Amino acid sequence: MQEEIDLVISEPLAGSVQYEMFRGQRNGWAMARCLVFMVFLVSCLISTVGLPVEPADEVAMQLGGVGGGRLSVEPSDLTEASRDFGRLTMSEPLAVFHPRGAEDVAALVKAAYASPGGGIRVSARGHGHSISGQAQAPGGVVVDMSHGWRAEAAERALPVYSPDLGGHYIDVWGGELWIDVLNWTLAHGGLAPRSWTDYLYLSVGGTLSNAGISGQAFHHGPQISNVYELDVVTGKGEVVTCSESNNPDLFFGALGGLGQLGIITRARIALEPAPHRVRWIRALYSNFTEFTADQERLISLQHGSRRFEYVEGFVVAAEGLINNWRSSFFSPQNPVKLSSLKHHSGVLYCLEVTKNYDDSTAGTVDQDVEALLGELNFIPGTVFTTDLPYVDFLDRVHKAELKLRDKGMWEVPHPWLNLFVPASRIADFDSGVFRGVLGSRTAGGPILIYPMNKHKWDPRSSVVTPEEDVFYLVAFLRSAVPGATDPAKSLEALERQNREILEFCDEAGIGAKQYLPNHKAQREWEAHFGERWARFARLKAEFDPRAMLATGQGIFDSPPLLAES
Ligand code: FAD
Repeated sequence: MQEEIDLVISEPLAGSVQYEMFRGQRNGWAMARCLVFMVFLVSCLISTVGLPVEPADEVAMQLGGVGGGRLSVEPSDLTEASRDFGRLTMSEPLAVFHPRGAEDVAALVKAAYASPGGGIRVSARGHGHSISGQAQAPGGVVVDMSHGWRAEAAERALPVYSPDLGGHYIDVWGGELWIDVLNWTLAHGGLAPRSWTDYLYLSVGGTLSNAGISGQAFHHGPQISNVYELDVVTGKGEVVTCSESNNPDLFFGALGGLGQLGIITRARIALEPAPHRVRWIRALYSNFTEFTADQERLISLQHGSRRFEYVEGFVVAAEGLINNWRSSFFSPQNPVKLSSLKHHSGVLYCLEVTKNYDDSTAGTVDQDVEALLGELNFIPGTVFTTDLPYVDFLDRVHKAELKLRDKGMWEVPHPWLNLFVPASRIADFDSGVFRGVLGSRTAGGPILIYPMNKHKWDPRSSVVTPEEDVFYLVAFLRSAVPGATDPAKSLEALERQNREILEFCDEAGIGAKQYLPNHKAQREWEAHFGERWARFARLKAEFDPRAMLATGQGIFDSPPLLAES
């Protein structure tokens, strides 16, 4: 065993640990302490849990047949775990843990909790699609939930019908990607989860730690409103099953809890019969008041054929209509009369809705869509319609991803900013931000805007939303293009605009809350949570008393690194 530890610390870690932990502290003493700490960490994990370690390929081969989790210090693992989709921060962990199941996660966390000196930082990483290092664990261990465990068909649970619930559900691994959940439930009974994100290559645990929203949220609520039960590994290393009636504090606290209370290893997700096809419709507005009035009217409709199933929208400066990465819709195949927009300079708003249908409703879908559109006030002649299979609609952003990857435009910095804005102030937001800070331009990527009904969000969850019956998501999903000729698309310019948007919201008292929040100081977090802060802090103290979990969120003081102590 000692040989393995020696291998671990002599090869790959020496360089990588320097990167984050010991940048600027290059004297031999600091390095010696680092090595001592790593020996301690690894031996603690090995002796407490009996975990195999993979310091190099030869050892990996030797350990190939060993069951249970695997602790890796391979440079490729460390590099992957040290970055995320945002490409804005990099912090390297000491090791990456690949669990085979909940018991492995529990064993690792228990070992970290038991370690003298205040615990070891542990962060679950779903698919690493955070923006600002939320799934990183500088100087600690990243638990690779998504790549570490791929359910074999024989091991996956099947959908279950519950007479009590009056519908189906499925139990899934917390690191499972939503695209895999979808494909599996479709193949087993033609079922699908009810509530989505726009992009499906995100993990169940990752989105449930935030909320998980898309255009269905106005009706079904966010994904966290569509979960019946969780298994959570707490910060003490205990696996706790929780639901509305069983350990409700942990259940609701973990939903939208930013990974602070535990690692979700199993989620029981509500399912519905999946429709076969989707009528996907977009229509343009130049008048913001009419645009938002129509959106709010549509989300107030809750019944059957008299409503759309999905309501979103986005801001399009006329200059960005064609180049926007979500605008492939306005392609030459569509009978688009862009000429009708010639006289519109400045900002336009695009309503996006869908009507689902299957064989039994195919005969009435046109009529239903016509009736719903007939009551809206978009610019005449700007309705664009596509008809496609339900799965293709749900997986639409992945198609954009593939195109961007081809152009080398996916793995670039993403200074994204997501805000929940109360409906009563959305017009002020329009004039202050879209026409003010942004100067009627949408440089850098899509800006989504759509309303949701607060009564579909359970107030017992940890997610923070504005205090109004209706609030909007406004999502600035912009990419900084390295070497861009347009200075407005540089990282610096986009980050400056984000700051200006937040300053405007503060100064104008908009009452916006960040979604996928990123705050730096604890007083900012306290302001974010508002009167919910005391409860959240109490739950943190109860379920993660050493504040070891998801330290990349930067909410609570984390266990000290050896170098700091
Ligand atoms: P990670 O980045 O891996 O983790 C996020 C946080 O959750 C970290 O703090 C991590 O420690 C914690 N965590 C991860 N797994 C677990 C677990 N099993 N248990 C407890 N904590 C855990 N969001 C929406 O709501 N709607 C959208 O439409 C949407 N579209 C997106 C499109 C793209 C292209 C991208 C990049 C992001 C999008 N998001 C959207 C945001 C996304 O939901 C969050 O960033 C989410 O956290 C990403 O999931 P992940 O699995 O990559 O999480």
